[in-house]
Amino acid sequence: MADLPSGISDPYALQDKTEDEKPEENKEGELKILGTDHSYTHRIIWPIVFVYIALHIGAITGLLLCLSGSVKMATMVWALFYSYVATEGAHMGAHRCFSHRAFKAKPLLKVILLMMQATSGQHSTYIWCRDHRQHHRYSDTDGDPHNSKRGQFYCHIGWLMTSRHPLCKELRKTIDMSDLQQDKLVMFQYRHFRTIYFLLGFLLPVWVPVHFFNESLVNAVFVCYFLRFVYSLHVTWFINSLAHKYGTRPYDKTIQPVETWFVSLVSLGEGWHNYHHAYPWDYKAAEIGMPLNSTASLIRLCASLGLAYDLKTVDKETLNKRIKSKGDGTYKAEDLDDMVTAIGPLHPLNPSYTGKHPEPDVKLKVRMRP
Ligand SMILES: [Zn+2]
Ligand SMILES: [Zn+2]
Repeated sequence: MADLPSGISDPYALQDKTEDEKPEENKEGELKILGTDHSYTHRIIWPIVFVYIALHIGAITGLLLCLSGSVKMATMVWALFYSYVATEGAHMGAHRCFSHRAFKAKPLLKVILLMMQATSGQHSTYIWCRDHRQHHRYSDTDGDPHNSKRGQFYCHIGWLMTSRHPLCKELRKTIDMSDLQQDKLVMFQYRHFRTIYFLLGFLLPVWVPVHFFNESLVNAVFVCYFLRFVYSLHVTWFINSLAHKYGTRPYDKTIQPVETWFVSLVSLGEGWHNYHHAYPWDYKAAEIGMPLNSTASLIRLCASLGLAYDLKTVDKETLNKRIKSKGDGTYKAEDLDDMVTAIGPLHPLNPSYTGKHPEPDVKLKVRMRP
């Protein structure tokens, strides 16, 4: 649950509280303990499985073309740049700006972020935010669309290829999306998402290298569409999988998300995930803005240009209280001169993984509507 600093009014923060903790909540309905029912099997949606297999075959083909030396350097640089655009669109836009309202964006920046997010191909911003708000509210339980307690494959990609748990479908109705429903720009992108995605997510990244770098159409499609797209997808998916498993919990050992510099490195700053779930409304999504948090730097740059404002963050005193009362003891601020990362034995997926602390058994109290 997030501790809001006084003076900050953020209706979304209420979504971090369980149903029972909301002060003016209707108390009708059955009170239920929400965890993970491992006897439940998700139904596989085969057409989507085949789409993901095709995308990955395309991405591997793109990678092999790059390794073969037949792709121009300018095309590869363009693909890398475009993957950066897509990643920031998802993480700075859909995540920090629209899901959590960790900062406010002027209309021009909103339009840019919505266009950037469309290039990521991760559904429209509206759907992205709905799933993400639900993820925070019912983290690591059957109410979470990508419940990490069902294993790394499931929360990384499996959840996209299977039917949702009935409780997840039911609890989706409790997610407050009224702010985004009233946002004309967000709803325009939602209504016209397929067209915008075709233009910005496929046509533009493929057309630029063909037109400007004299690249072949085949190379442009496999490198700048398939490879770039699949790479950006995995970058975001790492946050749902690795950042809920391999790392430390210096801010709250009662929740599943962890701090992982590896995920922060590839995702431009989203791997400080224990902090982020403790304080979802902090624009940095981490205690520190750098290193390995270029998204926070970009938000500050936009603020200095007058495009972003009302950047929210946690004060040190509040943070220290939480570290002392809820942290797993791996916080190393003094040793590391205010660095957050905890150091432990090497782990193949995250060198900051210690493995000393047991994972929490996540259980939430929720009230099911009649
Ligand atoms: Zn998470
Ligand atoms: Zn979040």
